[in-house]
Amino acid sequence: MKDLKFDEKGLIPAIVQDDTTKEVLMLAYMNEASLKKTLETGETWFWSRSRKELWHKGETSGHIQRVKHISYDCDGDTLLIQVLQKGAACHTGEKSCFFNPLYGEKEEGKVGSEILEKLYGIIANRKENPKEGSYTNYLFDKGIDKMLKKVGEETAEVIIAAKNPGKEELVYETSDLFYHLLVLLREKDIAPEEIFIELNKRFK
Ligand code: AMP
Ligand code: ZN
Ligand code: ZN
Repeated sequence: MKDLKFDEKGLIPAIVQDDTTKEVLMLAYMNEASLKKTLETGETWFWSRSRKELWHKGETSGHIQRVKHISYDCDGDTLLIQVLQKGAACHTGEKSCFFNPLYGEKEEGKVGSEILEKLYGIIANRKENPKEGSYTNYLFDKGIDKMLKKVGEETAEVIIAAKNPGKEELVYETSDLFYHLLVLLREKDIAPEEIFIELNKRFK
C-alpha cells in the first residue's frame, strides 16, 4: 500500500481486466477506502467521481467483479485489477467499456478463443431463459443422453471429415463438436475456464 501514489485528490486509476480472456473491461478510480473494501471483500469497490461516494461495482446491475489478482505498475501510480466479471462491465450493457473505435483498421472478422466463452454464455443464457424454437433448448429438454449421443455423432463426423481432402468440412464438423461439448459442459455445470486451467497446468 505504501508504494502506491494516490493523486492530489487521493485517487489512483484502476484498469480492470477480465482474468480469463485478458480483455480490458473498464477504467475507474480508487481511493484508499475503496481499495481497502476491495481487499476485504474480494469484489471491486471504486470511488465514483460523479456521485462522490464509494461505489461497489455491480451494486445495482448485479454485474459484480470478483477479484483474482491486483498489481501496480512500475511507478506505483496505476492499479491493474484482474477479475471474473459477472455480466457486462459497462453500464451500457457492453462487455467492455472500450467499444468506440477511434483509430486503426477495423479488425474485420478477427476472432479468438474468447468466442468459446461467448458461446458458452449464450448457451447458459438459453438454459435460464428458454427461447422458442431454440436447438440448444431442445438439447437441454432432451437431457444428457441426447447430448452424449450428439457428442458421439459429431466426433465420428470429425473423423470422417479428417479423412476427406480439404479442410472446410473439418472446420465445420469441429465447430459442431465444440458447440455440443459446450452444451454438455453447461449441463454438467463446468465452465470453460475449468478446461483452460487444466490445459494450462500441463505446460509444467
Ligand atoms: P453498477 O455498479 O454496475 O451496479 O452500476 C451502477 C452505476 O455505476 C451505473 O448506473 C453507472 O452510473 C455506473 N457505472 C457502472 N459501470 C460503470 C462503468 N464501467 N463505467 C462507468 N460507470 C459505470
Ligand atoms: Zn505508472
Ligand atoms: Zn462503460
